[in-house]
Amino acid sequence: MTSTLPLVGHLIGGKIVQGANANSRSQDVFNPATGKAEKRVLLADKATVEQAISNAQAAFPAWRNTPPLKRARVMGNLKVLLEQHADELCAMITAEHGKVLSDALGELQRGIENVEYASYAPELLKGEHSKNVGPAIDSWSEFQALGVTAGITPFNFPAMVPLWMWPMAVACGNCFILKPSERDPTSTLRIAELALEAGLPPGVLNVVNGDKEAVDTLLTDPRVKAVSFVGSTPIAEYIYSTGCAHGKRVQALGGAKNHAVVMPDADIANAVNALMGAAYGSCGERCMAIPLVVAVGDATADAVIAGLKAEISKMKVGPGTAPGMDMGPLVTKPHFEKVRGYVDQGVKEGATLVVDGRGLSVAGHEEGYFLGPCLFDNVQPGMVIYQEEIFGPVLGVVRVKTLQEAMDLIDAHEYGNGTCIFTRDGEAARYFTDNIQVGMVGVNVPLPVPVAYHSFGGWKRSLFGDLHAYGPDAVRFYTKRKTITQRWPSAGVREGTVFSFPSSK
Ligand code: NAD
Repeated sequence: MTSTLPLVGHLIGGKIVQGANANSRSQDVFNPATGKAEKRVLLADKATVEQAISNAQAAFPAWRNTPPLKRARVMGNLKVLLEQHADELCAMITAEHGKVLSDALGELQRGIENVEYASYAPELLKGEHSKNVGPAIDSWSEFQALGVTAGITPFNFPAMVPLWMWPMAVACGNCFILKPSERDPTSTLRIAELALEAGLPPGVLNVVNGDKEAVDTLLTDPRVKAVSFVGSTPIAEYIYSTGCAHGKRVQALGGAKNHAVVMPDADIANAVNALMGAAYGSCGERCMAIPLVVAVGDATADAVIAGLKAEISKMKVGPGTAPGMDMGPLVTKPHFEKVRGYVDQGVKEGATLVVDGRGLSVAGHEEGYFLGPCLFDNVQPGMVIYQEEIFGPVLGVVRVKTLQEAMDLIDAHEYGNGTCIFTRDGEAARYFTDNIQVGMVGVNVPLPVPVAYHSFGGWKRSLFGDLHAYGPDAVRFYTKRKTITQRWPSAGVREGTVFSFPSSK
């Protein structure tokens, strides 16, 4: 039976298209609050992705030579359009991802800040200049666009994570192919349409929806010079090794298991409030979420658990569009089942399930993918629920005796995305921030997500590559340095033949 659901297509050469193949594969896009399929997204085949790459390649020479200030103005226009269309975009995010509308607005705002930072590109691209590095010799470094660049993004921030990538890439003079998550593609595509309205020439930004076939085409086509990826660690590792093997510059950000250390001297009420948002906000589907609390001392653990239990009992879980909700559903049915399976596993492994969210049913939304907040005590480092990324509303408390024990646990974990410490002790906080083997660290800040003018990235198996995402690192990632050394010989400084290696001795 042919589906009558609205189709989500691709944006290639400035137009929404259905791709090179009339019988393209497609898949349902569900509303997680109702469990109903509301759209179908086309899955680009190789030929369709190649069309997008050809369009980007064709647009590159003119775009590269467009004055940086004119490119930046498009970003300024886009910022205004994104603000004007915020309600429409947030409704799209919530309808496919499930997060509550206020959280969708927070994600969009963070994305807009990246657009704003990209509008400073002319300043960031100014380069470096040295006069008289030798007799009548001047030298300078400039940062040139790479050509066609690509980004592959996850489901959990359909607006923000793409905006980490392509605005700076195009502001630096590149063209871009974006492959968003096939689970919630609509807001991402709509933002790309708004970029056209903002003045981005056709072909500079192309969006291809799809799955592995589309990704593999981007990873192997020699016309694509650089790939940014954000998603789970196994796929990040695959993207990094395959992209590098095909001669591309790659940055691949992966999964996480972020620990929050609570010290005995912490302001416990403040820590509990902070942990609630960090653990259960966006249903735990954030790479900077806190799924583990490491409480130093039993008294600290008891106080944190009591505080969390009290706060959880007040939480409102329901459709993200309903007013006053704290948490919506998980993104898809398979993900819901996977997260619930982790809760079963934790019980089997002997952790103490203090709050069980498995029985939750939301009236009028019985088919939605709702899992209530879950809280475990006595989680041990050997347990699967300690080791693996759950990506759901499941918080575990680990009990330790000292700060050093807490830090040793964090350092031994395969992921090193984010972490934080709650304390009133400056010396402990300084020791923690100095020594912990994690890329983004908070002190009494549970989600230390860097602002747009810093860069975002984890350590260990949370990031493959050398440069972090967005901020100053993005300018370096999306450009290559060229260093020019120039002499204009004049009568006073004419040199004879020199056979020794030039130096300023
Ligand atoms: P995912 O790895 O399943 O998918 C990410 C992207 O890769 C999607 O576009 C998807 O279509 C594509 N993909 C999936 N399987 C593929 C395959 N076999 N070959 C090629 N491409 C493939 O991740 P997700 O479930 O969409 O997102 C959640 C994950 O992303 C979590 O692990 C989370 O921690 C991580 N994440 C990390 C960051 C960060 O900055 N480190 C930020 C957000 C999300």
